[in-house]
Amino acid sequence: MESDTKAKLYSRYPGLSVFIYNGSTILHFLLGGVGIILGYRFSSWAGYTFGILYLIFSFVEMYVVMPISVCPNCVYTRAKDWLCISGLNVISKKIAEEGDLKDFPRRAQGPFCPNNLYLGSLIVPIVALIPALIVNFSVVLLLIFLAVMGLLLFRFFILFPRIACLHCRAKYECPQAGAMGVRNR
Ligand code: SF4
Repeated sequence: MESDTKAKLYSRYPGLSVFIYNGSTILHFLLGGVGIILGYRFSSWAGYTFGILYLIFSFVEMYVVMPISVCPNCVYTRAKDWLCISGLNVISKKIAEEGDLKDFPRRAQGPFCPNNLYLGSLIVPIVALIPALIVNFSVVLLLIFLAVMGLLLFRFFILFPRIACLHCRAKYECPQAGAMGVRNR
């Protein structure tokens, strides 16, 4: 029950939290895209093709698919003047029809559900940079790989459990909050 929780629940996340969430997300995508371009630039086409495709996929998945498919069913989008950790509820209100709270858990259902696409957008550059490091090693590429790894670890061990999901008013319906074990904290 919500009253059992110790963490404060935010109707409007602090601006710093929203900045950290979006800053780390955008940095992850940009470094991932640049890393793929640099890692495969020994090919006349592969680096730019896969790097740019990754950038399009990751930004569209996060800033278009999420507000259209997930956010309409979220309590943050339905409430007046609330601000979620990503700020996407504000975008969703402008571009999508209001959904149904009971459909919110659908974000994690099916192989190509929004949650899996989101995870894919975070993991693709790490998987893609390992072979690139083996065949086309450079210090810059290694630093990009370590930075993206660091951002992924930061997201799963600090951003989600301590800054985002812990304080989220959707955590009782959200499958991700269940997976993070923050519902009763
Ligand atoms: S619990 Fe976490 S993943 Fe789920 S809506 Fe809230 S902040 Fe987003």
